[in-house]
Amino acid sequence: MSALTGLDLPGRAAALGLTCRQYLDLARADPRVAADPALEGGGLPRLRAWLAAGRPTANVNDLIFVGDVEIGAVVRAVVEKLPMPVLHHVVTSVVVIGSGTSTGGLCFDHPPTLPAPEGDHVHLIVLTRADEGLAAHECAHSWRNAPSPPRAPAAFRAALADDQCLCAALVKSDEQGARLAAAVIDHHLHEERDTDRLASMWLGRHVTQDVRHTARRERARIACAAALPTDEEKS
Ligand SMILES: [Zn+2]
Repeated sequence: MSALTGLDLPGRAAALGLTCRQYLDLARADPRVAADPALEGGGLPRLRAWLAAGRPTANVNDLIFVGDVEIGAVVRAVVEKLPMPVLHHVVTSVVVIGSGTSTGGLCFDHPPTLPAPEGDHVHLIVLTRADEGLAAHECAHSWRNAPSPPRAPAAFRAALADDQCLCAALVKSDEQGARLAAAVIDHHLHEERDTDRLASMWLGRHVTQDVRHTARRERARIACAAALPTDEEKS
């Protein structure tokens, strides 16, 4: 539940540390900022940080993109359409990588550094096709995801192992496990639809990812992860 859900205008303004007039100015400058459904998630602390920093502007030319020129052109066109707080987040915290059209793979020895990486670490978006809707969708994930602190390799591996254990439990157990797996997939699909809604608002047209594809991918991921030996089985 959002910190802003159910609040009236003065309440929403106060939650962002603004006066009503400032809030209305913000909404007037770009109605998408005030109407942002992602303020129910990671978007809220990001918007607050952007306001506290004095509403810095950014330019699509600052975007750090590596990879296929076809994908890069589409990503730049999308980034130009984003509300300024989101555009600022993308060009200061995210490296976008595109590969799969003119290149099959990429290697760079010096990962790009970012001007102001949120949480002091690089956020990544990886795209495999030149698709405006998909690029906006992944930018929306990045804006919606809760800000996270940097993770040491051991903590990152532990999170992956946790996910693997969950997948194993979902697949190996009985009918109840199957129901749980369906609930996990449903939860992910919910997130996908919310992310599409935000991307649609930004682009001013309906954006939708293939939900059946996402469900298939999730089932495959769960089955794959479950087939891997867990740490206990390995030792
Ligand atoms: Zn998605």
